[in-house]
Amino acid sequence: MSNMEREHEATACAADPAREAIITYTARDSELGGGLIIRRALPLRERRLIGPWCFLDHFGPLALDDAGRAGMHVGPHPHIGLQTVTWLIEGEVWHKDSLGSDMVIRPQQLNVMTAGRGISHSEETPADHGPMMHGVQLWVALPRAEAHREPAFEHHAALPHHTAGDAALTLIVGSHDGQTSPATVYWPAICLDGDMPQGGEAVVPLDPSFEHGVITLTGALTIDGVALPIGQLAYLGPGRDEVCVRAEAGTRWFLVGGAPFEDEITMWWNFVGTRAEIEAATDEWNARDARFGTVAGWGDAYLPAPATPWKRQP
Ligand code: MN
Repeated sequence: MSNMEREHEATACAADPAREAIITYTARDSELGGGLIIRRALPLRERRLIGPWCFLDHFGPLALDDAGRAGMHVGPHPHIGLQTVTWLIEGEVWHKDSLGSDMVIRPQQLNVMTAGRGISHSEETPADHGPMMHGVQLWVALPRAEAHREPAFEHHAALPHHTAGDAALTLIVGSHDGQTSPATVYWPAICLDGDMPQGGEAVVPLDPSFEHGVITLTGALTIDGVALPIGQLAYLGPGRDEVCVRAEAGTRWFLVGGAPFEDEITMWWNFVGTRAEIEAATDEWNARDARFGTVAGWGDAYLPAPATPWKRQP
């Protein structure tokens, strides 16, 4: 009986030669102060977007020193035209923004900040923190019709959980297999966290109208038989209704997807929009315009916006 099941699983997971091949990309590594390694899987020169997801940073894991000095200390900075999504595997991040939000986020919880017409925020390791920091931060581009909406902040302390094969799934954004996340987004999108023990295998249903991307957060994963080391992005084009994942070692993996984004946008520094919108946001942020508000507890501290590249080199 169990042998039969294993054969069935193996068949379900077999490569389909008619299926478009997975494309893998190498994320760009950079080091933020204090030894924090960031793997930037989006945007890449070869791939700027997956659905509306325009930015995907995988940071850590990093062991923090006792004073938290090696943690995250990002002072007030602005955003327009996007939403930020923060998801932690380990540790805590203390978020404050110009709406007055003041929230420590922990693993299995979700922060979604909608910048819309303008917001500013800070992100720090809180004084009272665990030994490690590990997580992802993403940006979701707002479609043009929603780009100027009022800013907003959502914290979700609990999200839907379900399973596919041996994978324990947490649904962060969108709908999947009858579950729906409470997170508000403005373009069809999905975001899933998967957890599998060594040797675990799962056929994960996909929306064939979406394109998808997968990264490995911990352990060792193969996706449709292709090894996906930490620091690489797997891209799956539209037209797929499932993907097979297998844990060569106990693994956490992370999937994003969405309907191919249709609006023409520019992404520069912390802004998404038209060039004219980004130009205006840069000038207004540097003039300390009330549009971006202030973040409590930071005094006059702010990170100046650099000149836009098209202005430096017209
Ligand atoms: Mn930010």
